Amino acid sequence: MKASQMLISTLKEAPTEAKIDSHILLLRAGMIKNEVAGIYNYLPMGLRVLNKVKDIIKEEMDAAGAQEILCSAVQPKELWEESGRWFKYGPELMRLKDRHDREFCLGPTHEEVFTSLVRELVKSPKQLPINLYQIQTKYRDEFRPRFGLIRSREFIMKDAYSFDKDEAGLEKSYQNMYDTYSRIFTRFKLNFQPVLADTGNIGGNGSHQFMALADVGESTIIYCEDNHYAADQEKATTKLDGYKGKAEAPIEKVATPNHATIEELVEFLNDDAKNMAKTMVYHDFMNEKFILAMVRADREINEIKLVNESGSNENYLRLATDEEIASLGLVKGFIGPVNLNVKLDIYVDEELKDMNGFLVGANEKDFHLANVKYGRDFEGNVCDLRMATEGCMCPVCGKPLKSARGIEVGQVFKLQTKYSDAMKCTYVNEKGQNVPMVMGCYGIGVTRTLQSIVEQYHDEFGIKWPLNTAPFHAVVVPINAKDEAQTALANKIYEELKKNKVEVILDDRDERPGFKFKDWELIGIPYMIICGKKAGEDVVEFKVRATLEKTEKSSSEAISTVVDAVKNM
Ligand code: ATP
Ligand code: MG
Repeated sequence: MKASQMLISTLKEAPTEAKIDSHILLLRAGMIKNEVAGIYNYLPMGLRVLNKVKDIIKEEMDAAGAQEILCSAVQPKELWEESGRWFKYGPELMRLKDRHDREFCLGPTHEEVFTSLVRELVKSPKQLPINLYQIQTKYRDEFRPRFGLIRSREFIMKDAYSFDKDEAGLEKSYQNMYDTYSRIFTRFKLNFQPVLADTGNIGGNGSHQFMALADVGESTIIYCEDNHYAADQEKATTKLDGYKGKAEAPIEKVATPNHATIEELVEFLNDDAKNMAKTMVYHDFMNEKFILAMVRADREINEIKLVNESGSNENYLRLATDEEIASLGLVKGFIGPVNLNVKLDIYVDEELKDMNGFLVGANEKDFHLANVKYGRDFEGNVCDLRMATEGCMCPVCGKPLKSARGIEVGQVFKLQTKYSDAMKCTYVNEKGQNVPMVMGCYGIGVTRTLQSIVEQYHDEFGIKWPLNTAPFHAVVVPINAKDEAQTALANKIYEELKKNKVEVILDDRDERPGFKFKDWELIGIPYMIICGKKAGEDVVEFKVRATLEKTEKSSSEAISTVVDAVKNM
């Protein structure tokens, strides 16, 4: 392709809303263009990359035995009512009505649609297992779209759904997809880590996320340096540290005038936060009730765990407001599980259960209770509610855990029969019984992955695309578009590379060389072949984008270097 005929829309500066390097560079390189918040258009260079990302995913999915289909983005409300998610999905679901007032959503994911297709099309157990996938546009009305393609409101996902006869089948299908994802992210040259994950809005009971490691990642990974354990912070658990607190003693009422926060209490009582409990009140809108959640005061509450334990939903659980706390007859800052005048469900972190005693609010202004002991003074649902953080103990070996940031590029779930039960996606077994199929689902954020590659492959000059996702493999630049020897050699190299299936650009624009070099470095073309003063001697400058290394080569050497690299990519 000749640069003079291409839409090249590089920018000196990125729009100010772009905060992270990969977003800035995709905008500056003219790969994507913002339409409205969280919605992007793909320009020629960006679309070429997107198609390559899709192709690699397709190749690996096909090789794994999955079959591609394409579903509509528009989904009828009735399907979502069958699964119970029309209500549960909350405000992220983009809902719409047609002219007859019939309700629809723009799919944020496709469990319902795939389950309904399979229940109609698959009748015999002989057709199982089956794994269907699509690469398609998804819609989620994210509360805070940001970071470009990383958290957008319209994005492209590869989603796959497996249907098996039984659990053993699901295990195999899941492992197959897990391995396939590892191959896909390896082909993208991403530095990634699979981690144990929570199942969120999708449901089911076993899941891994694939995290591209990056400081700007929105996810926190908690991991053991000795490779015993790696989990998303939402899911991560820790070994109990066995801390018992002070010696057992009867409850004692302590005056704590105006000292309501943990920090204030630590200072006022000259005590350690480990000897106190933090008690928070949550409003569960789904079940219309209030909940008390308690962790040791040197910990934070993991709200995802609370959602799971209480059977609520992340869209319908939030901290109670000051007014709600007052209306329950509780005193903010002095709340505790003893002497409650109101019936509340109490969830207690495991770490508190075996302590000899700890400090809690007295449910009376300016007072706390010391030496409160679980089981003796109050009861509740004991569970893992604490947020795992760096320094907590590895649940396997007990060594202090580490943390890192990651971008979730993919997630695999064991759905079991959550959707097939609800939506009656069944097959008839040998005994003539109707049994639900056992399902898995598997997503890759295609556009998020594209941007994650940029996040891991860039420098101050621009993007450094790995060869297999670069928009073009090479660019040939004559320094002076009016110099005959230079343009003749550039043309010859360009034609030769094209003949050898190299995706190559000839920069025939009548621009200063520095201007051209800057463009290609920003866009991130892996190889640049510069035809300059020595063109008459058949010598070119050969520049590798990844390393910025520059060498002189004969034209045929330059050509064969690129051709070989493309053959072996
Ligand atoms: P997140 O926790 O980041 O909101 P999720 O867990 O809700 O994502 P899934 O339902 O697992 O997302 O969707 C599958 C994949 O789709 C994710 O692993 C991610 O790569 C991608 N994805 C999800 N939401 C977005 C978004 N708003 N923009 C871009 N990609 C997304
Ligand atoms: Mg996910």
